[in-house]
Amino acid sequence: MNNIIFFGPPGAGKGTQAKKISNQFNLPHISTGDVLRLKIEQNDELGLQVKDIIASGKLVSDDILNKIVSEKLIKNECANGFILDGYPRSLEQSNFLNSFLIDSNLKIDFIINININFEILKERILQRSKEEQREDDNLAVIETRYNEYVKSTKLVSDSYKSNHPNIYFDIDGNQEKEKITFKIIEILKKSWFSAIIFNFFTWLSHH
Ligand code: AMP
Repeated sequence: MNNIIFFGPPGAGKGTQAKKISNQFNLPHISTGDVLRLKIEQNDELGLQVKDIIASGKLVSDDILNKIVSEKLIKNECANGFILDGYPRSLEQSNFLNSFLIDSNLKIDFIINININFEILKERILQRSKEEQREDDNLAVIETRYNEYVKSTKLVSDSYKSNHPNIYFDIDGNQEKEKITFKIIEILKKSWFSAIIFNFFTWLSHH
């Protein structure tokens, strides 16, 4: 009941929210952006390979990402749930994830999609670029990253929305951070509670 995907354009605050939810519910936070940035920092071979792509705002290859995520998901610490942040970002990645989950007898329980308008997003990314000194946070790159989102990731998110409307939740990302966190917690708790009640009555009807 604890497998969650966060979607949203770059700068929508999904990383911040995913981290908070990860702490609150003690679920491992798998941020593919963070994994890649760490590899760059460590001067790891893969890091050197992806450094320029990330700096340009383009997407890194599906094979690399599928490998990173599947290696994380098979770890014991993900046995009680996980939060995917920044993955899947292409239809190929979501197909890979779907087969991986079927093979591992797992499923996604919640999809949280944080929406935000592009003008607010530009301001936020520029602000973050000052605070975090991320090379991929400048106006030219923002547009590339946003276009990659519209061209690729939004299609993935939309397809989850039409195929799994009951577990897909849109959140208005233009609100204050605390309000967004509150809403997400509310969604998760409400659904967990109804699932417990549902399971209880199903159990009762069989006894
Ligand atoms: P993020 O921190 O999620 O915004 O990711 C930063 C950058 O890492 C992206 O702009 C991409 O270049 C790369 N990246 C992260 N996750 C993925 C992914 N699932 N597929 C392809 N590239 C990714």
